Amino acid sequence: MKTGLTHLFIPGPTNVPEQVRQAMNVPMQDMRAPDFGQVTMSLFADLKRLFRTKTGQVMMFPGSGTGAWEAAITNTLNPGDKVLMARHGQFSTLWAEMAERLGLDVEVIDVPWGTGCPAGEFARRLDADREDKIKAVFVTHNETATGVTSDIAAVRKALDDTYHNALLFVDGVSSVGSMDFRMDDWGVDLAVTGSQKGLMLPAGLGILAVSEKAMDASKSATMRRAYFEFADMVKLNADGYFPYTPPTQLFHGMRKSLDRIFAEGLDNVIARHHRLASGVRAGVHAWGLSLVAEHPSLYSDTVSAIRVPDGTDARDVIRIAYEDYCTSLGSGLARLAGKVFRIGHLGDLNEGMCLTALSVAEMALARAGVPVELGSGVAAAQAVYLEPVARDMAVAAE
Ligand SMILES: *Cc1c(COP(=O)(O)O)cnc(C)c1O
Repeated sequence: MKTGLTHLFIPGPTNVPEQVRQAMNVPMQDMRAPDFGQVTMSLFADLKRLFRTKTGQVMMFPGSGTGAWEAAITNTLNPGDKVLMARHGQFSTLWAEMAERLGLDVEVIDVPWGTGCPAGEFARRLDADREDKIKAVFVTHNETATGVTSDIAAVRKALDDTYHNALLFVDGVSSVGSMDFRMDDWGVDLAVTGSQKGLMLPAGLGILAVSEKAMDASKSATMRRAYFEFADMVKLNADGYFPYTPPTQLFHGMRKSLDRIFAEGLDNVIARHHRLASGVRAGVHAWGLSLVAEHPSLYSDTVSAIRVPDGTDARDVIRIAYEDYCTSLGSGLARLAGKVFRIGHLGDLNEGMCLTALSVAEMALARAGVPVELGSGVAAAQAVYLEPVARDMAVAAE
């Protein structure tokens, strides 16, 4: 018999705030009713603010982030088109695999898991592509498997510096709404996210923001598509309607979650994620463990992938945390299985929750045989969380 709360510290699905859950508890409604469009039109407008785009077209497909990848590819590219991407974690690996399955000619750059997208190497390959054979560049903004954030502005610069015309696709599934994401400033053509991460909703929506250039490309792109056809979606979305039954409950939840994000202020949300993540990282370092991310400039503010020492199976840490302490930690994916556990720190989260994650992880690590000093990670994170207070106190004392 388990008592108390079960803590969710995986990088998606994330915790759904109580107010958002309540907002979804509404009777079924007619998705063709004259007033149905009101809610959805307001969502499109606010999603544009979330992606930081004025000119992009936002779409929501029933599905998940993976479905949004497929929508982005099939609407804007042609069979056999060459695309350039880096593989540096499980999500970029899956995206490359999808691109291959859909019949694209994928030029993959394999870099170590734990590093980011190699913008310099992208620049070299784009520069060498004098005939513009590369039609799109795919970048995973935040590799959720490794806890690495890549520099999208640097990839934009690589495209600009080489006068290259390729479309820029960005997977923002674990970054949009919790990290700095600037669709227009970075010249992103297809930005992809899902409902169950930064947006603090259940899974069920694949969300896209599409630039004017990508909308133009969709008019002549010949890849086969049916359910994910942009043209059908855009036509009905113009008045807030959908070409098929949308998950209306999620829209009511999203209205509430966007209200919460903008009431806090998007910049404050981003700053909070950075502050909470800094505390988690301080805790990991206090344990004497290291992150998969190879350099501080790559550290993700939404997920930390933590290496356990040789001889320890990270799956034991995760199992003990779950079975004995009602806490879900993220697992190591693919080649990182058993070597890594992850703490997801995104969405509806605060200091106390992060300290819970660290304290449970400490107990689970100790029981799995890792020589951590109990309390050390928690104390390091507490010091980070108290920094602004300590500063204020010092100023007041002067
Ligand atoms: C979660 C995630 C996905 C997959 O999204 P689903 O909603 O599970 O289909 C893709 N990319 C990244 C970076 C993710 O974190």
